[in-house]
Amino acid sequence: MAAETMTKTKWVYAFGGGGADGDAAMKNLLGGKGANLAEMSSLGLPVPPGFTITTEACTHFYANERNYPAELEAQVAAGLKTVETLTGKAFGDAANPLLVSVRSGARASMPGMMDTVLNLGLNDATVEGLAKLAGDRRFAFDSYRRFIQMYSNVVLNLDHHMFEEILDEHKERLDVTVDTALSAEDWEAVVSDYKRAVEDERGAEFPQDPQAQLWGAIGAVFASWMNDRAKFYRRMHDIPESWGTAVNVQSMVFGNMGDTSATGVAFTRNPSTGENRLYGEFLINAQGEDVVAGIRTPQALTKVSREEMGEKAPSMEEALPDVFAQFKDVVSRLETHYRDMQDIEFTVEKGRLYMLQTRNGKRTAKAALKVAVDLASEGLISKEEAVMRVEPASLDQLLHPTIDPASTREVIATGLPASPGAATGKIVFTAADAEQQGGSVGAVILVREETSPEDIRGMDAARGVVTARGGMTSHAAVVARGMGRPCVSGAGEIHIDTRAGELRARGRVFRAGDVITIDGSTGEVLAGAVKMIEPELSGDFATLMGWADAVRRLKVRANAETAVDARAARQFGAEGIGLCRTEHMFFDPARIAAVREMILADDEAGRRAALAKILPMQRADFVELFGIMEGLPVTIRLLDPPLHEFLPHTAEDVEAVAEATGLDPVKLLRRAEELKEVNPMLGLRGCRLGVSFPEIYEMQVRAIIEAACEVAASGRPAPIPEIMHPLVAKGEEMKFLRELTDRTAKAVMAERGQTIDYMVGTMVELPRAAIRAADLAEHAEFFSFGTNDLTQTTFGISRDDSGRFLNAYIDKGIFEKDPFVTIDQDGVGDLIRLAAERGRAARPGVKLGICGEHGGDPASIAFCESVGLDYVSCSAYRVPIARLAAAQAAVGEREKDR
Ligand code: ADP
Ligand code: MG
Ligand code: MG
Repeated sequence: MAAETMTKTKWVYAFGGGGADGDAAMKNLLGGKGANLAEMSSLGLPVPPGFTITTEACTHFYANERNYPAELEAQVAAGLKTVETLTGKAFGDAANPLLVSVRSGARASMPGMMDTVLNLGLNDATVEGLAKLAGDRRFAFDSYRRFIQMYSNVVLNLDHHMFEEILDEHKERLDVTVDTALSAEDWEAVVSDYKRAVEDERGAEFPQDPQAQLWGAIGAVFASWMNDRAKFYRRMHDIPESWGTAVNVQSMVFGNMGDTSATGVAFTRNPSTGENRLYGEFLINAQGEDVVAGIRTPQALTKVSREEMGEKAPSMEEALPDVFAQFKDVVSRLETHYRDMQDIEFTVEKGRLYMLQTRNGKRTAKAALKVAVDLASEGLISKEEAVMRVEPASLDQLLHPTIDPASTREVIATGLPASPGAATGKIVFTAADAEQQGGSVGAVILVREETSPEDIRGMDAARGVVTARGGMTSHAAVVARGMGRPCVSGAGEIHIDTRAGELRARGRVFRAGDVITIDGSTGEVLAGAVKMIEPELSGDFATLMGWADAVRRLKVRANAETAVDARAARQFGAEGIGLCRTEHMFFDPARIAAVREMILADDEAGRRAALAKILPMQRADFVELFGIMEGLPVTIRLLDPPLHEFLPHTAEDVEAVAEATGLDPVKLLRRAEELKEVNPMLGLRGCRLGVSFPEIYEMQVRAIIEAACEVAASGRPAPIPEIMHPLVAKGEEMKFLRELTDRTAKAVMAERGQTIDYMVGTMVELPRAAIRAADLAEHAEFFSFGTNDLTQTTFGISRDDSGRFLNAYIDKGIFEKDPFVTIDQDGVGDLIRLAAERGRAARPGVKLGICGEHGGDPASIAFCESVGLDYVSCSAYRVPIARLAAAQAAVGEREKDR
């Protein structure tokens, strides 16, 4: 007890009046919003004074059965006192009331968190004081009704529709359509109806005590950390639950005090394209979230933007020129200070500017690239920093198709180009339908009046999003950009009738299930499906990739077996093929009959006869692949899957094989029966095929070496085939396979009178292989970690069946992530580390790579870098992601060493 009182924890950090207890580096403790409010305050920018309750207080709250730390109350009281001194107002004082906002703020910005409560501290007495101070009764009661509505909704969990209905009744009775038409008396009447409604709903009056209001709001922020939206958002963005959220209590400034007051949001550069130009929206005589709520259409910040958009309502530059000049100066200072594009929230009260938030702005991949490259060119950051600024996974957005400009566009509505890229899908009107019919089930476009945080799962499941209301910074726009989903927002021409399940636009009617296409880069909504084209990989993309390549150590290869894949791989910058699965070549309809004949043959002679038919086809495949790869290494895995995958499934299949081979269909069927296995994934597959039927692997090695000889003889760059044996567990297996390979290769080279460089190695995909890596390395010149199977075999989990239970494991926190997506570093990763060590000890310089799905996962790539593998290999479309992730991993490793 004594020790506890002696070591005083600071739970509350003040800011304002040109100084602050905290700074921008304290995001973990103060949350992003709080840390940056402190930083801006210290920079001398006009920030309304306030204080931040730390994320540690939130953690304490959850660790102690939802109890606050003992000293918190006193520290909050002291914080409030400081704010009172700085503002010259007093919290709860009827004559001179201090009003505050209560704002949540985690380390990473999280749209799933509690909504901000504004005007807190208002009650029946202080509202009169506010009216007198402002000399504006209308403003005071407008503020009070906003507060009652927000507080009731956010803290008391009452439905906001209740309030909207009351307001609508008033408007109807007064025969007006807009809020601005209501007088002070009208708002007073609304306020008393609001209060009565609250009392009816909860059986207690609307809290009048400002202290009770404040603690109610603080509690609601902490509680919101564990709401479903926040949990879902955390899972989607890998944000740990242990971080907690901070609470910001800040004195109010008012954007709703008439025509020289306003509130707005701005980006220092265009968050959609990255263009270096101030960008944003504002509303005159408005408060808080009016701008993003989509109720009124916001106005442009700059004259140029207004003209471009063809808007009539004046821009901020035109309506409030003096404040705008000051604002421009402040935002450019902020960008230089933070050395990154800023996303800014501000309010103007009677011609005075106040800064309410700044943070590094969320942006599309396209914008991220442009901003990073531009900032480096402007000398604000280094090239290496630019490389670190782009989220590798986000490149995916750029690698997606866009609408072919040559195709005809049947435009049914236009809105704002809120998030780039194009998508086609069936119309759904609810997030629930999107979840059900979208995702892996099908392509849907979510069409909504506007979106809210509850829609986030539906947005994730949709290919694209359209909203009828809302601006470029509306919820839909912000979230869609973060997810990389194309989005058109504010398409006002669209009238949605959710109940009838239809939308009307330009005189046409579309029903749920009808196909539309959206172009998030132009803001167009089109009827039907439209032709798409592949992305352009030059410009900023090429520049940044070049910088990344200069930094990275890991090589990046692609998994490819077809000519199309191999060409794509090279186009995306692959430095070789890390996994060519030969069985895919076997499934070709033109070949499957010969393959089946081989499998169903009773004896070696029968198999050899069938293999002789396959040989020239395999050779031709490799000739083509080697040609495309122009001397780059190509790792070819010999036949791997259980043979049953090739068996004839239907009577017709059996007929066809019987006809091709002249064999008896009944006998064939019996043979197929015999080949069935109880557990094929652990059965006759991988190198066990090569050991059981050496002639199969001999044919494949022959095809590879013959193809290599042919390409070399034709004067093209000689390929370096890396012949890879799958599913090896024992040194003796590897020895057998090595001898088989060398013997065959030697024979081919002797026949051709040519010498070819080739390597023989193995996939490491069984725990025993990893543990006995030294035995394997005696005969294998390279290891490729087949992490799909290695994960399956280490956990004893079948990837194909894991869907049934993996979610439960992730929900319960037993797995943090899907181990088939991101390497399980402790288990599977440890085996890799061990195999690398033992393999290198037995054969210094043994070449090490990874070729599972993990090869394209940035977190797994960082792990590969830390183990010092030589390369990663992933699907062609992920190669750019892997190149960038490898560069970041290299920088990360270097920083670890410091
Ligand atoms: P979010 O994290 O959802 O952006 P904020 O806490 O930033 O929520 O609050 C949203 C908006 O509320 C701000 O952009 C600002 O317009 C308004 N707001 C918040 N605090 C204040 C304040 N002290 N004075 C005036 N407006 C405020
Ligand atoms: Mg908000
Ligand atoms: Mg904000």
